[in-house]
Amino acid sequence: MSGPFVLPIRADLVGIASYGAPQLDVAARLNVNENPFPLPDDLAAAMGVAVAAAAVDLNRYPDRDATRLRQALADYIADESGVRVPVERVWAANGSNEVMHHVFLAFGGPGRLAITFDPTYSMYPEYARDTFTEYEAYPRTAEFAIDVAAAVDLILRRRPTLILLTSPNNPTGTALPQADIRALAQAALEVGAMVVVDEAYAEFRHHGVPSACALLDEFPNLIVTRTMSKAFALAGARLGYAVVADPRVVDTFMVVRLPYHLSAVTQAVALTALRHSDVLQAQVALLRDERDSLSSWLVDAGFTVVPSDANFILFGRFDDRDAVWRALLEQGVLIRQAGPAGWLRVTVGTPAENDMFRQALVVATSSRDEEGRP
Ligand SMILES: *Cc1c(COP(=O)(O)O)cnc(C)c1O
Repeated sequence: MSGPFVLPIRADLVGIASYGAPQLDVAARLNVNENPFPLPDDLAAAMGVAVAAAAVDLNRYPDRDATRLRQALADYIADESGVRVPVERVWAANGSNEVMHHVFLAFGGPGRLAITFDPTYSMYPEYARDTFTEYEAYPRTAEFAIDVAAAVDLILRRRPTLILLTSPNNPTGTALPQADIRALAQAALEVGAMVVVDEAYAEFRHHGVPSACALLDEFPNLIVTRTMSKAFALAGARLGYAVVADPRVVDTFMVVRLPYHLSAVTQAVALTALRHSDVLQAQVALLRDERDSLSSWLVDAGFTVVPSDANFILFGRFDDRDAVWRALLEQGVLIRQAGPAGWLRVTVGTPAENDMFRQALVVATSSRDEEGRP
């Protein structure tokens, strides 16, 4: 053999770097939309007890179908959205990223098309690549809405099998009007496509904004995905889930999932968090208020702010967003360069972190000449 061994890596993966926002140990980490509050002591202790109980049985494989957990998620959704679904219509996996992988494995694949509307969640093209699904992202309007007439036309013409709608959307924070989701789901039905509404940030929506769960009885092709990573302050536990209109969707996820995909430890931790959801929802209420006051502050300070139903805010616009991002980081405030050029995204933190951000932003932008400032 001559020369170094050439790894037989799949040609489409050669030279691709892995995803990752920086994980830096700075004073205010406001870059990946986590809930900034550590778990309350009594909840952390209850998790310890639940994990200790599960530990005794770790010689056995976990409940493959995570039935108790899925039932608890169904109960939570009934509480949170007023929509009651049986356990057969709830799916759970390691983060909604894994749920989305299952969606692509079940409904994507070679020769099939998934579409979405940019700017949106940066992971979608990766699930498409992993599953050899074609992927097309169409631009949103200047206000980051979806031009529904054009999108309906597109769906009828391009005939995707999968349509991804993110609401509230990341990185814009914008929620889709229910009428828009309905029109797109109707067009999807006509071409036999599934619609996924990614509601990772649902709990942060303003009062009166309905969840897409309310449409599940109308559209057999609807999948609503949720996560415990954001509102539930459980990003470290990795638990995402889906609520679906047709139980056969869950049956198909069971075909494509890896065996025993959800560990007994994960199931125990998530069940415990669901039992304490009132405490966590109190944090969500506080974060919503902080979001609204931070948005107002940014507007008053002369920035352009996208109305947010999530726990983050997209704001701008900057001639050199990289310079502003760096100047914030120098002051210990880590945010995200996300969305189209000129915009930055800040996660809503604790009140103290938001104060740090405000002060640092004033310093970071005082000597610069931003477009759109008074
Ligand atoms: C954060 C986020 C998720 C959640 O991913 P997990 O795997 O559940 O942590 C899903 N969708 C969007 C749009 C997100 O921003």
